[in-house]
Amino acid sequence: MDAATEAALRAGRPFFWANPDRRPLAVVREALAVTLADIEAAAARLDRFAPLLAGLFPELAACGGRIESELLPVPTLAARLLGHGSDRVLLKADHRLPVAGSVKARGGFHAVLAVAERLALEAGLLAGADDDYRKLGRPAARAFFADHTLSVGSTGNLGLSIGILGRALGFAVTVHMSAEARDWKKARLRSVGATVVEHAGDYTAACAEARTQAAAAPAVHFIDDENSRDLFWGYAVAGLRLPAQLCALGIDVSPEHPLCLYLPCGVGGAPGGIALGARLALGDGALVFFAEPTEAPCMLLGIASRRHAAIAVTDLGLSGRTLADGLAVARPSQFVGRLMEPVVDGLYTVADEELVRLVAAAWRDEGLRLEPAAAAALAGPGLVRAAEMAVLAGRPATHILWATGGGLLPEADFAALLAAAEGQA
Ligand SMILES: *Cc1c(COP(=O)(O)O)cnc(C)c1O
Repeated sequence: MDAATEAALRAGRPFFWANPDRRPLAVVREALAVTLADIEAAAARLDRFAPLLAGLFPELAACGGRIESELLPVPTLAARLLGHGSDRVLLKADHRLPVAGSVKARGGFHAVLAVAERLALEAGLLAGADDDYRKLGRPAARAFFADHTLSVGSTGNLGLSIGILGRALGFAVTVHMSAEARDWKKARLRSVGATVVEHAGDYTAACAEARTQAAAAPAVHFIDDENSRDLFWGYAVAGLRLPAQLCALGIDVSPEHPLCLYLPCGVGGAPGGIALGARLALGDGALVFFAEPTEAPCMLLGIASRRHAAIAVTDLGLSGRTLADGLAVARPSQFVGRLMEPVVDGLYTVADEELVRLVAAAWRDEGLRLEPAAAAALAGPGLVRAAEMAVLAGRPATHILWATGGGLLPEADFAALLAAAEGQA
């Protein structure tokens, strides 16, 4: 890591870092530990379960159990972020993803469904992958799942997605919450019958505790945010579905018409999965940028230093504490960090005060209800344009702000964020 990068990170200064090791897909495809086939398998699993999900959650009936979000035009916000140029800015409305209200709906749900499917096939509750998965909503299946526990460490939203779906299928669920987790997320989980274990320590510590407890108990299935391939593939499905969404809007993606994705990053699974899915599905015209809080830039630090999980933001004297609870992670996923070395185009950091301003801006300009983690995406286009990256020189680009969460924010919590923005102004 060069001295300027280290100094900016240590100082907690908002910072943009262009990745010198980004490589064309043709060069790295063979070496990548994840292929398009892995992601397609995850998409197929989500499709197999869609009829069951449509029956379990009334809000999914209309979409047939398919969990997806819109690409929204955000003209007023776009003008604020980039001025009136020829670039196009869209917002990927994962904050409105049904049931879980965050990006975790794809990854978390896929991880739960992978466990449920494996157990059901082993127990003969399903005859095969072409069976009618709605059977798993029947009392006999629920009673079977009730003997199994899903366990997860979370800063909030992953726990919510695992807890809500796990409980709906009949699983026992234990969520190990780090200190940052918001009270309303814990309350919501308890209301669906999940057990919430509160940890005074950070996210890495909460995960470690969950991992240890699960290892000792065969009927406890630990969903490992730092290492799970099932989570990662589930997230990546979003990338796979992008070409059709862009095509419907008449948007081409190519090196002449680049697409920039701005992805809020915690431990790395969600942005990493989406980034890889998008690169594999759209090619080298897709550029990916990760957004992190100035106090918790774990992925930037891990990639820039190439030390990944061997280094934590606390080693630089940063606190790891941030209003963006979904991104309050001090140590990145080793698996994802390695995978992203040749894939990610850049990473940037945003201060908490700016996140609060951006939450208020998205509300005022477009009526969007984002949580601070999601607002980190909004700082991206201006930084990338200012960085004058050669790949973008003179080319009109499409920018996608990936709004990763906020849909379930209670009114009072959202009002408090807007009040905080007022107070700063
Ligand atoms: C979890 C989360 C992220 C980042 O996902 P990671 O897999 O932890 O990197 C971003 N935004 C929100 C709102 C989240 O909940």
